[in-house]
Amino acid sequence: MKKCIQDISKVELHCHLDGSISSDLIKQLAAEQQIALIEENLIVSESCESLDEYLQCFDEILKVLQTADSLKRAVVDVVKQAESDNVKYIEVRFAPMLHMEKGLGLTEIFEAVEAGVEAAIATTGIKVNLLVCAMRQQEATVNTALFDYLQQRDSQFVCGIDFAGPEAPFPPNTIESQIEHGVNKGFNLTLHAGECGCMHNVMESIRLGAKRIGHGVAINRDELALQEVKAQGILLEMCPKSNIQTKAIRDLSDLNLSYLLKEEIPFLINTDNRTVTQTSLNEEYELLLQHNLITLEQIETINKNAIDYAFLSDSERRYIKSNLMS
Ligand SMILES: [Zn+2]
Repeated sequence: MKKCIQDISKVELHCHLDGSISSDLIKQLAAEQQIALIEENLIVSESCESLDEYLQCFDEILKVLQTADSLKRAVVDVVKQAESDNVKYIEVRFAPMLHMEKGLGLTEIFEAVEAGVEAAIATTGIKVNLLVCAMRQQEATVNTALFDYLQQRDSQFVCGIDFAGPEAPFPPNTIESQIEHGVNKGFNLTLHAGECGCMHNVMESIRLGAKRIGHGVAINRDELALQEVKAQGILLEMCPKSNIQTKAIRDLSDLNLSYLLKEEIPFLINTDNRTVTQTSLNEEYELLLQHNLITLEQIETINKNAIDYAFLSDSERRYIKSNLMS
């Protein structure tokens, strides 16, 4: 039996690169690039009322993430933070189209981020993969061209795709053909859905081929929908602190963890955005422990089970299970 959260080997499947780069590195990059940042805009305000408001923090952070050097260093920085949470496998997600403001092209962006992954693996020993986010608010042709590029690049580190950004104005049916474009190319799909109260978006996302759902909390009180998720082998990537800040949930009881645990509905706890949300993975689990919503034993079990839902090849999965998750 593990004695504390830190002892438990963990998996993290929902962590955004831009929202998780540490405040220290953001400030360092801003100084180097002579960019004046409004520091209070980097983290979510206590009065945040919605996902749209939460997403505004990214505008400030993205100002310093427009060079190849900053992208590479950001990846190493985020993976090191995960290492201090005793994470053994992480899928870091990023949206290439948000790093083009100063002229970087897709190839330069991918070369920088992939170099960051290589450096992060070499320094930490953690297994790292990338999820590539299309942005819901982008033109359809931009997103489909991104998936075409991904197919051509065939990166050893890209393990799947996602659609991030404002969910309410861009529900799954409005981006259906773009989603299909990615799925038809054979990419593993996880989708942000059910973060703004709409249960229908979660079920639509599954219908469109999502193997995992980012957040999904809109269905957490609906036993029928949860049983459907279980039957289809879908994992819910939940991010409790972020969900409270965006008002996706009113409080932690809305996660309905006791039902999920009792019924063995697949889910995992994640940070979402370590800096914007001001959290770590250990902190997320501590919060749930303090409220008696989960036990250390259950935390160990959900992390071990999550490997089955990670976007890994069979051999990588076996390696992580037997070598990293003990
Ligand atoms: Zn997210």
